[in-house]
Amino acid sequence: MKLKSFGKGGIHPNPSKLTSGMPIIEVGVSSEIRLELAESIGVPSRCIVRPGQTVSAGEMIAEAAAFVSAPVHSPVAGTVKRIEKVRDPQGFWREAVIIATEHIETAVDEVEAELSPRTQEEVDALTPKEIIDIVGDMGIVGLGGATFPTRVKLSIPEGKKAEIVILNGAECEPYLTCDETIMCGYPDRIVAGCRLIMKAVDAPKAVIGIEANKPQAIATFRRYLKGCDDIEVVKLRTRYPQGGEKQLIKAVTGREVPEGGLPVDAGAVVDNVATALAIYEAVYNRKPLTQRVVTVTGPLLRKPGNFMVKIGTTISTLIEAAGGLPEDTGKVIAGGPMMGKAMSRLDAPTTKAISGVLVLPKSMSGRHPEEPCIRCAKCVSGCPMGLEPYQMMNLSIMKRFEEIKDLHVLSCLECGCCSYVCPSHRPLLDYIRYAKQEIRKLPK
Ligand code: SF4
Ligand code: SF4
Repeated sequence: MKLKSFGKGGIHPNPSKLTSGMPIIEVGVSSEIRLELAESIGVPSRCIVRPGQTVSAGEMIAEAAAFVSAPVHSPVAGTVKRIEKVRDPQGFWREAVIIATEHIETAVDEVEAELSPRTQEEVDALTPKEIIDIVGDMGIVGLGGATFPTRVKLSIPEGKKAEIVILNGAECEPYLTCDETIMCGYPDRIVAGCRLIMKAVDAPKAVIGIEANKPQAIATFRRYLKGCDDIEVVKLRTRYPQGGEKQLIKAVTGREVPEGGLPVDAGAVVDNVATALAIYEAVYNRKPLTQRVVTVTGPLLRKPGNFMVKIGTTISTLIEAAGGLPEDTGKVIAGGPMMGKAMSRLDAPTTKAISGVLVLPKSMSGRHPEEPCIRCAKCVSGCPMGLEPYQMMNLSIMKRFEEIKDLHVLSCLECGCCSYVCPSHRPLLDYIRYAKQEIRKLPK
């Protein structure tokens, strides 16, 4: 059977899924947790605690500051030590709440005693609006890396109609296996989360899209969904960036999202499988989003794995859990090798956006020297958005931003396929990102 896939471009990097099939390991609680206030792609949340105040596990410490914003909750019981700027993994200063966790044991017990899960009858009685409000109040954001507040995604604009929910289980980035791990471990909870999304957006059917290189995850869901006719598992061709929102919609429905449009313009609502799991936890177990599974991996790591991590735990704690930083380390990346970002600080906190920590040896960290463009057009044929990367880079060098805008640069996914295929090792994506930043500053 022909596997479903998107239309244009794409690449086949080595999957390097070193941690596939490994169980989830819980990372212990650090003595200090650092919670950034900018945990979503929207407006940073507004701090509602003060130094010296004690907080419970699951307590909101910062509220949403706008419609496109998400609250932040403490994953631990403890005392607010400071509210200050800390460096994020890329070295930028971010406002954060620092919590000391000394009194954790007693406080966690107290809080857990207060939390009684909702029964199925109680969940069934929730209205779509009540589900969306819970998702918003529990600080849920897209866990595929975008951190778009899920409340906003589930609030379908007036006049639009969601026909299908697509759960993104593609996990097309090399090395990452956090989604595969939860798909194999919690199919029941992910499907329950999917049904909550379907109810919230009033969509009659759903599809779980999984790349063909995760046969265990596909088999797990197919077994679990046997006899079910409103949720289907779709096996996707292994091809990067299959997990891009627009690529996934194209693969599953055959429809294109119009330029500048939303997935719902193609009748779809797309959420990551990890987001569906977080929705399940929020609605059934009343748990805010305070932890996630992170793949910590790399060819030289002694104990790579999939770790359940409390948000706010430092990256260095994660690397220690995976056996410590190897001597020959050349680069540490937040996320996967294609769309991830190099880290400059390992004392930075884990955020809701971080799905992986990739430790690369020096031999895999350098860049090849850049050579002149030979006009081979490989970057054009590799681009899943049908753009002209070589042209956009040339214009970006010349700072001709209005012209790059006309080449639809804002549709660029920043997937990196163009840089990956270029035989001249031209830093296409670097210049495209720069152009996008400059265009956003232009007068409208
Ligand atoms: S980074 Fe942008 S321009 Fe390059 S291949 Fe991806 S979508 Fe196309
Ligand atoms: S792939 Fe590289 S060498 Fe080929 S056209 Fe694009 S920029 Fe030029």
